[in-house]
Amino acid sequence: MQAFQFENAATRIRFGSGSLVHLREEVARLGITRAIVLTTPQQISLADRAEELLGEMSVTRFTQATMHTPVTVTQAALAQAREAGVDGIVSLGGGSTIGLGKAIALRTGLPQITVPTTYAGSEMTPILGETDAGRKVTQRQPVIQPRAVIYDVDLTLSLPLAASVTSGINAIAHAVEALYAVDANPVTSLLAEEGIRSFAQALPRLHTDPKDRSAREQALYGAWLCGTCLGQVGMALHHKLCHTLGGTFDLPHAETHSIVLPHAIAYNAVAGDAMGRIARALGTDQPPALGMFALCRQLGAPAALRDLGMPEAGIAQAADLAAANPYPNPRPIERDPLMALLRRAWAGSPPLPEET
Ligand code: NAD
Repeated sequence: MQAFQFENAATRIRFGSGSLVHLREEVARLGITRAIVLTTPQQISLADRAEELLGEMSVTRFTQATMHTPVTVTQAALAQAREAGVDGIVSLGGGSTIGLGKAIALRTGLPQITVPTTYAGSEMTPILGETDAGRKVTQRQPVIQPRAVIYDVDLTLSLPLAASVTSGINAIAHAVEALYAVDANPVTSLLAEEGIRSFAQALPRLHTDPKDRSAREQALYGAWLCGTCLGQVGMALHHKLCHTLGGTFDLPHAETHSIVLPHAIAYNAVAGDAMGRIARALGTDQPPALGMFALCRQLGAPAALRDLGMPEAGIAQAADLAAANPYPNPRPIERDPLMALLRRAWAGSPPLPEET
């Protein structure tokens, strides 16, 4: 066994159907007496429920959380929080709402409790990506990590199927890259394999019936595991590519992940132990890149970057950008093989693991 480092993040988890009813108890446990409730305009009814449960412990709400955590939105929420004299943050929603809570925590040091309603996994990480004047800056700091998480399966039943699929594949991508991360360790590898397995089993069931509570449970369990992996170890080629593509061509986050992932797995076929674990977790006899591609097709996820609006002329630009300042990766990140990868991802062709 190779030498490794492992740090436990002190996040309390409460998992289960109907667990939102414990919100008041969990908020009190953190010593919060005057909370700000955060969500998106689409999830106002969730803020209503939270306020009902919190009673006098909720003193103000901000329901304008937005994708990519723009600093202007954070400043508006922060001003409201200061005006109300809050001493804690309650974030209910997906990665956008949780990002806003993290941005407030970063600037105030206030404790956060999160109630995730997608599978993105941000609730389990000390990572925050903020946009300011069109530029995204990502940082990792302990103060950003939420202190408690309530995973209430019931709140995920309303997540539309397409968003469930792409959000789930986005989560799988965190676990895949954790398996071949430069700082991978035996514990995150166990979590990663189980996280991929959970989604590989849950997503096809959700595809058949999006209201299947037991499948939703399995998916949310996977979200916890995959989010934990993202919070513990560094990411590699796949994330570098997705950030480059998203930032340069304004492509949607989760959809881009679901197109690139099989190709990133193919590129990194040299990472033998990780590949074995991914194939085992997917339950496939094929090379894992093809197994992942087949799962994505079965789930009806988008297959081609061109369908998201990426111009063909952008392939070379993306390869240049991704090859510059590359993340650590099991196989060197080089322009020519990246061009080949991006051409296939752009056109929606299957990955070619046998070429690597
Ligand atoms: P999101 O939070 O942007 O939500 C997308 C939409 O779905 C919103 O309109 C939201 O109101 C709605 N929604 C959420 N849950 C719902 C539900 N259960 N039912 C019905 N509608 C629901 O989407 P996301 O994919 O969770 O988050 C994406 C953002 O999170 C990106 O900005 C990404 O960069 C960030 N992210 C950050 C980290 C991190 O560790 N910092 C990790 C993963 C993702």
